[in-house]
Amino acid sequence: MTPPEPSSVCSVELGEPEPDPSSVCSVELGDPEPSSVCSVELVVGEPSSVENAGDVEDDPEIVSGKISTKNPFASFGDSDTRSILSDDEKKLLMAIHPIQPDSKTGVEIKLPFDKERVYTQGPGGNKRMWLSYCANRRRLFCWLCHAFGDTKSHYATVGWGDDAKWKARHCYKSIEKHELSVEHLAAVKAYLHFSERRSVLQVLNTKSLSLRAKQVADNREVVLRIINIVLFLAKQGIAFRGDKNEAAYTLHSSCNHGNFLEEVKSRAIFDPVLKAHLDKAIGMSQARHDAHSTSRGRGSLITFLSKNTFVNILEIITSMVLDKIREEVEENGGKFSFSMDGCQDISVKEQIATVLRYVNENGPVERFIDITALTSTSSEAMLNHAIKTLSDVVIMGNLTGFSFDGAGNMAGVKTGLQARLKEMVPDSIFQHCYSHVLNLALEKACNCILPSVAFFDLMRETATTISESYKRTDIWTNTQHM
Ligand SMILES: [Zn+2]
Repeated sequence: MTPPEPSSVCSVELGEPEPDPSSVCSVELGDPEPSSVCSVELVVGEPSSVENAGDVEDDPEIVSGKISTKNPFASFGDSDTRSILSDDEKKLLMAIHPIQPDSKTGVEIKLPFDKERVYTQGPGGNKRMWLSYCANRRRLFCWLCHAFGDTKSHYATVGWGDDAKWKARHCYKSIEKHELSVEHLAAVKAYLHFSERRSVLQVLNTKSLSLRAKQVADNREVVLRIINIVLFLAKQGIAFRGDKNEAAYTLHSSCNHGNFLEEVKSRAIFDPVLKAHLDKAIGMSQARHDAHSTSRGRGSLITFLSKNTFVNILEIITSMVLDKIREEVEENGGKFSFSMDGCQDISVKEQIATVLRYVNENGPVERFIDITALTSTSSEAMLNHAIKTLSDVVIMGNLTGFSFDGAGNMAGVKTGLQARLKEMVPDSIFQHCYSHVLNLALEKACNCILPSVAFFDLMRETATTISESYKRTDIWTNTQHM
């Protein structure tokens, strides 16, 4: 262990003249710091025996707040209120304490206690680095609790000891009691955290910080590309996922990994950033898979290739689009109406679409804002769904009208969705959707003219006959192009 150079004992942060090292500390207990790293705070000295010894008067004095190398007990008050110390003051305290005077300096100091029993934890035990003794005040102090604790104990404030106590020789028990107290142990923890934080920050400031900055920059480049792929798939209405082979460690194989991962793989061929990231993700995933072959998922690996990544990106895009619509509605008075209708999709789920309608400077506009699969289409469920969907974008009190098809759950005058909405916003108007109305009108009209019934029957049967056979469909297609 190399003792610090004298110059390293002074604190750059304190900006004070260098002290004589012997007045600060003589031997470093912690890991040696490089001499270029000047830090008082990492050096907890051997007990100093110089207090009031009269041989430091020519040394330059380091001062921080009330505390100085010549008056190390200045911050310990006269009452039991504890003053909060700044980081610089704490560092100075750490540098100059503990102060444990004895007779080695050649100046006779009469101690009211047995220094072996007070300064150490019993014969041959550890030195009590937290304990300082002020010969002027004839009191014992815990500089650790003073700097880092949250206690009103006399050790941390006015100091322990008076003539009666010294006479009764209570000090040994009292010191042991303080040493084991919850408050003191908490202060020790805080001190360690403070020292560690400073050393960690010093390390981070050099290599780790720049390494981390590079990682962040690299990840941003990757995420930009992933966002681009998500936008492409979403715009084209292409399914993102396949039904298997989505784990990163499977990506080196040529099987189908679903559109999203296939798009990533495809772009990586010409994009070195994406290629490097993909190779790294496959490697990490493979290593993890080999180590925990029974576990599923990516665990703590962040690859930006999971479904969570594109789901999150899609949610963010949704929220940005809705924000834009909300702004436009607000800018134009906030009034709105909406349409809502459902349709079964190919997997036989009822998909409910919601379209918002409002007026901007160019006239009426319609915005498709939501499509959700609902398991119940009762008027109550539809009302809850409408409120939930619309409340993200508009204020329900500004509702002026709504239009649905003529189904009972939607258009019913007593408990249909339109009746429930009118109850909520009495001035609003229900309009039976014109397209649905036209459809109904045409259907009824056609059904009461016999030749038209026969014509539409023939049309339907012809369509069925042709579409049932690829040969007939082929002839039909070619005939159209003639
Ligand atoms: Zn303490």
